[in-house]
Amino acid sequence: PEPSTFLSLLTGSFATPAAENPTVAMVEAAYRHHGIDARYINCDVSAEKLADAVRGALAMGWAGFNCSLPHKVAVVPLLDELAPSAAIIGAVNCVVIRNGRLIGENTDGQGFLASLQTVADPKGRKVVLFGAGGAARAIAVETALAGAAAITIVNRDTARGMELAALVNARTSAAATFVPWEGVFTIPEETAVVVNATSIGLFPHVDARLDLDLESLAPGMVVADVIPNPPRTRLIRDAEARGCTVLDGLGMLVNQGIAGIRLWTGVTVDGEPMRRVLKGIFDA
Ligand code: NDP
Repeated sequence: PEPSTFLSLLTGSFATPAAENPTVAMVEAAYRHHGIDARYINCDVSAEKLADAVRGALAMGWAGFNCSLPHKVAVVPLLDELAPSAAIIGAVNCVVIRNGRLIGENTDGQGFLASLQTVADPKGRKVVLFGAGGAARAIAVETALAGAAAITIVNRDTARGMELAALVNARTSAAATFVPWEGVFTIPEETAVVVNATSIGLFPHVDARLDLDLESLAPGMVVADVIPNPPRTRLIRDAEARGCTVLDGLGMLVNQGIAGIRLWTGVTVDGEPMRRVLKGIFDA
């Protein structure tokens, strides 16, 4: 056997809380499926200890790690380099360690885009995006960089919504507009893609509905939800009933995992075993 047999590639996650994060189960399912000699260690890391954890990963020769709440922005000054989309988004959820250098990526947006591209190309199309938080920011930037013509950002908080629209206009070629979410929102007819990037629908509020006119959802539209738990949100069910093409939050989560694994190991893994594990966990 190779001398490397007893030294696995190390990857993992730094977040707090961490105990309910299913990423380890998803990623290790992919490692097993492909026979990749790698581990994914789920670590509960407090804000004060993030810098120590990053130095530890470097010292132990990790290939990289995910960062989740509350570290996605705080990790940025600890890194040597940012990938272009992560630099625009201003947040990192995936760090790659290459030749001792820490490189920040944002695979949330990449995961969303990969999931979207299984059914539609956003190039030249019009997008309606509900939300202006971390997930929405990643989705708006990545979709704009992929050539979306226009993005309408619909958000409850005006300052956050305006800031995201300004960011997209300043740093990408897409035309972003902000619409304050006051009462029922009607999706414009020419919309190709509708995205829920709010936390509406997340367990345990599984029957929560977005304040939107369901009649304005047309059969040709793609309707995507970021909520992974449960995957069949009210929005997904409503959009399906209207004849739309739907994408659930598991698609984004799995593709975000595929992107991270590719960055750490160079292998493009099959998403099916990952999706199966998550479905089992979320009992979908
Ligand atoms: P943030 O807290 O950064 O943003 C939350 C967003 O939801 C804001 O735009 C907020 O609006 C909006 N919102 C929340 N509640 C309501 C409400 N009742 N009515 C209207 N708007 C509301 O969270 P994140 O962006 O980090 O995460 C959002 C969701 O995305 C989470 O549920 C998370 O699970 C999911 N996610 C999924 C991923 C995946 O891979 N599938 C990856 C990352 C996140 P306002 O600004 O007005 O407060």
